[in-house]
Amino acid sequence: MSDKSQRFLIDNTHIRGELVQLDEAWQALQATATYPAPIRKVLGEALAAISLLATTLKFKGSLILQINASAPVHMLVVQATSENTVRGLARWNAEIADDASYNDLFQEGRIIITVEPSDGGERYQSIVALSGESLADSLKSYFEQSEQLQTRLWLASNDQKAAGLLLQRLPNSDDSLVEEDNESWNRTLALSDTISAEELLTLDAETLLHRLYHEEDVRVFAQEAVTFKCQCSQEKVEAMIHSLGIKEARDIIEKQGSIEIDCEFCNTHYAVNHLDIERLFNQQSAPSTNSIH
Ligand SMILES: [Zn+2]
Repeated sequence: MSDKSQRFLIDNTHIRGELVQLDEAWQALQATATYPAPIRKVLGEALAAISLLATTLKFKGSLILQINASAPVHMLVVQATSENTVRGLARWNAEIADDASYNDLFQEGRIIITVEPSDGGERYQSIVALSGESLADSLKSYFEQSEQLQTRLWLASNDQKAAGLLLQRLPNSDDSLVEEDNESWNRTLALSDTISAEELLTLDAETLLHRLYHEEDVRVFAQEAVTFKCQCSQEKVEAMIHSLGIKEARDIIEKQGSIEIDCEFCNTHYAVNHLDIERLFNQQSAPSTNSIH
C-alpha cells in the first residue's frame, strides 16, 4: 500500500480509522534537503500524521501541522490538502546530535494546527504547548486539550517509509450507548497500542488490520493515493512581486538584474526579469499575495 491511505470503520462502534504508508512522497520530500536523522524521523512521522488528519477534512482546502520551538529545530511544518497532496520541511540552527531525542529537538516547543479552507471559508488555528516523548504523544495531548473529536495516532518513519494509524471516535447522538462506546473505544485503543513501528512500516493494510482487529468487524473502503506536490507557482511568485509595488520591483531588477526566488518546500527556482515586471504591472487587477506558496 505504498503512498496510499486506507479508510476503515469498526462496525457496531462509532470508531473510524485510517492507515497511511508513504514511500515515494516521503522520499521526494527528503530529496529537497539533507536532514539529520533525528529531525528526519520526526518529519516523516509528521508527514504521516498530516496525511491522516487531512482525511478528516470535510471541505476543499489544506491542513497544516507546525512545530515552532526556540531551538535547535525552530520550525517543522507539514501540509496536506483535501486532494491528498503533501509537502513539508524543517529548519534548525544548531548541530543535531545523532542520538538527539524528540525533546532535545524542540525546546519550548508549541504545536500549531491550521485548517485552511480554499474556497474562502474561515481559517481556524489552535495552538498548544508541546508535550510528551514523541509526536504521537504531543498530538494525543493536543486532541485532549482542543475541543475536537477524540483522536489518537500511531506514527513511524525511517529513511524509506513514513507510516501511521489514526483512530477517531465519531459523534454519537444516542446517550444510552455511551458506556458501551467507551468500552469499544478503550478496547480498540488497547489493541492499537500493540502495533510496533516495524509493523506499521512493513505490513500491508490488510495484514495490519487483521493483525490488530481480527476479533472486530472491520469494514474497509477504497484506498486513496497520496502524492508529494508543492503549491508554489510562477503565478504566485508574480502576485507576490506585484504586492511589492512597481517601484520596489524595478529597484531590485536594477540592482540585481532579475528577481530570483527559490521555493523552500520543493527547491523550484523562479526568476523574473525586467520584461516580466513591465508585463506584470501593465496587467489589470493582478492577484495580490505575500506568499509564493
Ligand atoms: Zn514549491
